[in-house]
Amino acid sequence: MSLNTRRKQAASAAKAAGVEALLVTHLPDVRWLCGFTGSNAALVLLCGARRQAVLFTDGRYTTQAKAEAAGTKVVIAPKSAVLAACEWMAAAGVKRCGFDDGNTTVAGLKDMQKAVPAALRRQMFQPVGSLLLAKLRWVKDADEIATMRAAAALGCKLFEAILGTMQPGMSENAVAAELEYAARMAGAEGMSFPTIVASGERSALPHGHATSARLPKRGFVTLDFGVVLDGYCSDMTRTVHMGKASAEERNAYEAVLEAQETAVAAVAAGVAAGAVDEAARGVLRRSGLDKWFTHSTGHGVGLEIHEGPRLAAKQTQTLEAGMVITIEPGVYLPGKFGIRIEDMVLVTANGGGMLTPCTKAWIEL
Ligand code: ZN
Ligand code: ZN
Repeated sequence: MSLNTRRKQAASAAKAAGVEALLVTHLPDVRWLCGFTGSNAALVLLCGARRQAVLFTDGRYTTQAKAEAAGTKVVIAPKSAVLAACEWMAAAGVKRCGFDDGNTTVAGLKDMQKAVPAALRRQMFQPVGSLLLAKLRWVKDADEIATMRAAAALGCKLFEAILGTMQPGMSENAVAAELEYAARMAGAEGMSFPTIVASGERSALPHGHATSARLPKRGFVTLDFGVVLDGYCSDMTRTVHMGKASAEERNAYEAVLEAQETAVAAVAAGVAAGAVDEAARGVLRRSGLDKWFTHSTGHGVGLEIHEGPRLAAKQTQTLEAGMVITIEPGVYLPGKFGIRIEDMVLVTANGGGMLTPCTKAWIEL
């Protein structure tokens, strides 16, 4: 889908929300709409007959903005991009502009109001929420899907390679460092989020970032990580066992695996997000492990690591073809161990397309 088509979609969503312009300040939204990746940016979309996109940034980005946002008018502002955008809209006669109140601070809104003439202040900035653009971004186009497929495939390769270096006594930090070095060497721009390596009892921490703790002779290690390719994030989790496992550990692993595979099989366009969550939770309930499954089953992923839709209990949002979601049930038994298995799945009319081609079978190192 061209950037122009995205801007058209965004402009009609803004018009339907009753505003004549949209002030886009959340950087992933700015990137999605005009291609610009700089850290100081605001994009104004005029809707209706005057449809136009204007990107505001600062002097550090003059060359980059012109190259990345070709096709969009670029204004280099001497100060804050957002405030320059507000002044520009006021001068252009905009009376009602939608802004992303989900990503604007109270202080930020006050500054925006001060940037326009007093007569406009009251009605100029209309909150339209973060979902107005986020929901458009939830459904990926063919190019985005191809990039995310490549990012997920790279994640799988990195996982397979790290298995060869993991051994008792190695620190979690060293595992993360090896993984991240290999990711960069393979072309990743960076990691999607701080790599999680949680070993032994620490595997019971759902978000246990890598520490100086050493991999045990016997116990689980959870690896949850992702790479960024062309701005798009991958996200996967595998849990492996160092040494010989107890029957309890092995049984819990098989239950999480069954929950994960059952939830993947439940994915299809038209299915409620809550139904996919229930598919995973139901399996764990049958093994008496559901009380240890303390988070949601998954989330959308894309330019941001956590996007919508949320796959959580009772979520009525229906899945649409083109959404890319994670399926990641887990169980966490405090003081004992934790297990999570996570894949990325493309929602299609016929079901879920697996984007993470990587074994989930039991691994003992
Ligand atoms: Zn993850
Ligand atoms: Zn995830």
